[in-house]
Amino acid sequence: MVIIMNPDATAAEIKSVIEVITAAGLEAKVMEGSQQKIVGVIGDKTKVADVAIDVMPGVEKSVAISKSFKLASREFHPQNSVVDVAGIKIGDGTPVVMAGPCAVESKEQLFEAADIVKAAGAQFLRGGAYKPRTSPYSFQGLEEEGLKYLAEARERTGLRVVTEVTTVEAIESVVKYADMLQVGARNMQNFGLLKEVGKCGKPVLLKRGLAATIDEWLNAAEYIMNAGNPDVVLCERGIRTYETYTRNTLDLSAVAAVKHLSHLPIIVDPSHGTGKWRMVKPMAFAAIAAGADGLMMEVHPNPAKALSDGPQSLTPENYQEVMAGIYKLSQFMKQENITSMDI
Ligand code: PEP
Ligand code: MN
Repeated sequence: MVIIMNPDATAAEIKSVIEVITAAGLEAKVMEGSQQKIVGVIGDKTKVADVAIDVMPGVEKSVAISKSFKLASREFHPQNSVVDVAGIKIGDGTPVVMAGPCAVESKEQLFEAADIVKAAGAQFLRGGAYKPRTSPYSFQGLEEEGLKYLAEARERTGLRVVTEVTTVEAIESVVKYADMLQVGARNMQNFGLLKEVGKCGKPVLLKRGLAATIDEWLNAAEYIMNAGNPDVVLCERGIRTYETYTRNTLDLSAVAAVKHLSHLPIIVDPSHGTGKWRMVKPMAFAAIAAGADGLMMEVHPNPAKALSDGPQSLTPENYQEVMAGIYKLSQFMKQENITSMDI
């Protein structure tokens, strides 16, 4: 059960609600998002069945949640959540774009990529400093040095920075340099990492696991939210299927499913979703048409020389073409009042 407080509920009113819950032997969890104050009730809710919580001062309503994920569910929060990342809003109806190289390879490479990304209109620079590579012999990333280049690229361009954190030990430095922490597909069910990024104080981009169901993915988001961080954005990046032509199978139906089940924003990564640069443009357009809140795409100044994921990276020219199309498509949808979101 969750108790939704009035937006102007006072600290004393919230405290009284918590007291009633804890007195019944249940745990209360306060979530203060940018738009709502919520008290989550953990434990057997029949213990407060006799308490008229709904009429307590400051309470808007209490809601019973049927899903295994609660805080992430749309039952819990009927309106779409908007996640604010250092002033950029994700989920407010205007698609955001996160673009950049798969990995930070050098200062020169990153700055060149950042300038390209910025010029065509993205809001975020992406780039891995810690790379979760399939082979231990592949380039593993520049680690903290890479994070410093990302922060410098932000100073240079004004782009926000999103970058992956692969271990609990690295959270502190990633928080220091980035605006948003990315939890990659391989770590989607690393529950220790999820709990810690839930306490890090910065928004989190949670990629879908390689073979995760939507339910498992939303439960992973729940771990982060339950640890106190309401600012979670989901990223569909393709799943393993029997198809081998593409690197993964991009599940665009997940956009519609997530919009129905959850209030969290969702973006799409057609680069990892397909593994082929030629397929990035059509899938990016399809994602926007499907109602995604944004895109993550890999762009490299020279994909042929990329240390990772060259085959799926856009050249600067391809990238500009994709961006122009996305812009026109989203303008058209707005103008014609076309909405894919039928929640
Ligand atoms: C990435 O974004 O660079 C990445 C490694 O993605 P994923 O976790 O989706 O494989
Ligand atoms: Mn990559």
